[in-house]
Order: sequence, then structure tokens, then C-alpha cells
Amino acid sequence: MIYLDNSATTKVLPCALEAAVNAMTENYGNPAAVHSFGKQANDILENARKDITSALGVKKGTLVFTSGGTESINWAINFAADKNKHKGKHIVSTKIEHAATLETLKALATKGFEVTLVDPERDGSVSLDKIKAAIREDTILLSIMAVCNETGAVLPYADAAKYMKQVNKDAFVHVDGVQGFMKINMPLDNVDFLSISAHKIGGVKGIGALYIRDGVKITPMLHGGYQDMGLRSGTQAVPQMAAFGAAAKYHAEHFAEDTARMDEVRRYCIERLSEIEGSVVAVSEHQAPHVVNVGFKKGRSEVIIRVLSDKGIYVSGGSACAKGKKSHVLLAMNRDPKAIDSSLRISLSEENTKEEIDIFIDTLKMAMKMFR
Ligand code: PLP
Repeated sequence: MIYLDNSATTKVLPCALEAAVNAMTENYGNPAAVHSFGKQANDILENARKDITSALGVKKGTLVFTSGGTESINWAINFAADKNKHKGKHIVSTKIEHAATLETLKALATKGFEVTLVDPERDGSVSLDKIKAAIREDTILLSIMAVCNETGAVLPYADAAKYMKQVNKDAFVHVDGVQGFMKINMPLDNVDFLSISAHKIGGVKGIGALYIRDGVKITPMLHGGYQDMGLRSGTQAVPQMAAFGAAAKYHAEHFAEDTARMDEVRRYCIERLSEIEGSVVAVSEHQAPHVVNVGFKKGRSEVIIRVLSDKGIYVSGGSACAKGKKSHVLLAMNRDPKAIDSSLRISLSEENTKEEIDIFIDTLKMAMKMFR
């Protein structure tokens, strides 16, 4: 099989699996227990926390484990809006955010918040000037993704965050770093919250984290036994945390060569896609190394995906969460309707090769012959 759907989820890395198994079968104590067996489990999860924090390159601040990107995003945005509601009601985000952000913002809009969503450009990028124009003195939250999951465009979140703080120092900045983590460098100056997820980087599904800037006192997500600094109570998922830590450490150690190799395969994929008549790739000036979004003048994503799938080649049409619906990202980019209907997202891991891309392209060429 050829798996080209790594933005949807990834295979668990061997080191992550080993760490999880160890925490389930050897060091399986309750990390809150007083005895030394419990302490060993606690050491494992605290080491995982350190490994993720150092992969993020931050020295201060708090990293709280969550159930994934979606929970981290909901938590950060809802807290920021609630905390600042007496200072203003205006929130800025973009039209190309993940549903976890857009739906949370939609819920806040029903509670009286005013949400401005910045349009992307036709190539998938988001203009810093447009974000700046949307930001006002009464903007209390900027929530923006670092890398778009559908197109791989890198957003100017760092400059937007800086500007947000200049205009209103009390405003919060949340960054959805789910697709950026371990794919691009993500400096976190002026960022109050960063959401990340383990299953996008070779960890296990069902675990993520929220990084909280030093000095920000967030309201707990769950009350209970005071685990995870009292911010998210409940017996901690040590196996998942250990796997997340191991995956983050692995990627931090191999970052330069893996991202360079992925970028080479991505460029090769774009080059080969150009052989297909009518193909249009969405590429902006700054792209992450792992995502290619292509559309055609004819064809339907579901059909192409099925034909490829029958041959053991797995890609997606836009985001996996959007099942069947037209992509809100491609719509916002004003892509040609035919290109939207036929769009494919090819997303790479460090393991994908140019040979796999060759097989994918040959099969895709065959699939495209079905459409007249
Ligand atoms: N944000 C982005 C950009 C994503 O790509 C995803 C997952 O597809 C999420 C958030 C949600 O993360 P999770 O699946 O861990 O809830």
C-alpha cells in the first residue's frame, strides 16, 4: 500500500509504540500513587511533557495534555473569550481554519461575540495585511492556524500575533499548531496558546496538548483529582503521553533531514502532477513540506479516491473531517468549481518516496482517463 494521507493521521512510530507498551505492561502504575511504582509512571509522563516542550523550543510555560487538537482548540478559544468578555467582544480568525476552530467560534457568535474571518488568497495563503486590517482595539482574541491542513499553506501567525499584542496587549493569541508541529519551525513569541495533536506526528490517537504561555492562568478543563497541575483532572493516560513524548523527541532529533526529504518529495509530486492535463496545484509562497492540494478540470474526488484506494493508494479529498461536503477552504480560496469537485490532498510522512509518487501518478493518470 501507498499511504499519502498523513495529514489525516499517521502510523505510530516504533519508538512511540515501544514507549506506550512499556507504560502499559511494565510501568503501568497510577502516576498519582504515592509508592515508587506510581512515581516511575509519573516520571515517564513528566519526561514526555519535557520532550514535547523542548521539541516546541519553549523554556517557560505550561504544557497540559488533552484528548487531542480539537479539545485544546475548544479549551483555549472558549477560555480566552470568557476571560476577556468584559474588555471586548471581537474575535479575529480566518476562513480556512479547521472545523474545531470554526465551530467553536460559531458557538461563541451565538453568545454575542462578533467574529471576523479573514479571506484567504486564491493560492491558499492568508495576507498579513488583511489580518491586520481585521484586528481592532476591541479585538480580544486572534485564533489562527500555523499550517492549513488542506493546502499546506503556512500562515503569517507570528507577525499577526505580534501586531495583535501591539494593538491590544490584553488580547489573547491562540495558534492551531496541529499541522505545523514538527513540520515547520514554530516560534511562539506573543503566542498565549498553542494546540497540538499526537496522531499527526506518529503518536497515538486520542492525545494532544495545549501549550499555555507563562503567566496565563487558564480555567481548568476538568475538575477532579488535581492531575496535570489541576488543569485537566482524571487519571493520566500515561501510555499515550509516553508515545507522544517519544514521537516528539524522535522528530525533534530528525527535523532538518526529514522535513528536507519530505519537501523534496512534495516538489517532485507537484512536478509530476503537472503532467496531467488540466491539473492545478494550490501552492503559495510559504508551504509546509508535507501537503499538496491539486484539482483538475474534470472528475470527482470521491471517484478518483475510490479508484486509487482499490489499488492500495490512499489520498483524501480535502480534510478527512469534512466527509463528502465541499471544502470550505477551497471555496473560500475561490477555486474553480471543477477543481474543487475533483480536488485531492496528498499528504506525506518522512517515509514516503519518489518511487511511491511515481506509482501514484501512473495510477492517477489511469483514473483520470475515466472522465471525458
Ligand atoms: N487542527 C488542524 C489543522 C487539523 O488538521 C486537525 C485534525 O485534522 C485538528 C485541528 C484536530 O485535531 P484532532 O484530530 O487531534 O482533534
